[in-house]
Amino acid sequence: MDDLAEPVFGSKAFGHIMQSLTEIGGEPLRHKVIAEAGLPYLKTDQNRPSFSPTAILSLFQILERVLPKALASRVVILSARKAAEDLLKEHIPGIAQKMLYTLPDHVSAPLLLDALKRIAWTFAGSGSVRVMAGPPMYLVIDKNPAVIWGCLWQRALIETVFRNLISARARVEHLRCCKTGQSSCIYVIEI
Ligand SMILES: [Zn+2]
Repeated sequence: MDDLAEPVFGSKAFGHIMQSLTEIGGEPLRHKVIAEAGLPYLKTDQNRPSFSPTAILSLFQILERVLPKALASRVVILSARKAAEDLLKEHIPGIAQKMLYTLPDHVSAPLLLDALKRIAWTFAGSGSVRVMAGPPMYLVIDKNPAVIWGCLWQRALIETVFRNLISARARVEHLRCCKTGQSSCIYVIEI
């Protein structure tokens, strides 16, 4: 958790938060967060991973400190959607996306679940990810390193991935959380 001691963020994670602040509250909101968080906290590094859960957690702790919770939650959800869209662009080739979109949901959804397991480091970092094809489908993150507000960021990210490629009706619920002393965060995905 070195990133928490001295937050330096991957440019993507930082960019998603900054864009989300601007889209939700305009430049005044973005400037308020930068001013209240303190510039030393907002260093970015192009060489950091694009999607580091510990960096995301650090950013959300700053949001939690400087914004009302409801507003901070909106920023987290919007930034998760942006992260999901970037993640698809970078890790699921266009031809695979097209195939997933055109296959029947009961065939494509487990394929996407397996793909998410293969790129789990992008949204679960050091946590270990297991999946169960169901139905319903489960995604489990053991020792989740980015637990905050019911794991809102990860939940919104997984939901956006399934809504974009499988079904606009896809829903993700967070059944169990490391925050409450459990060893795993468990998400259930319904199409
Ligand atoms: Zn959780």
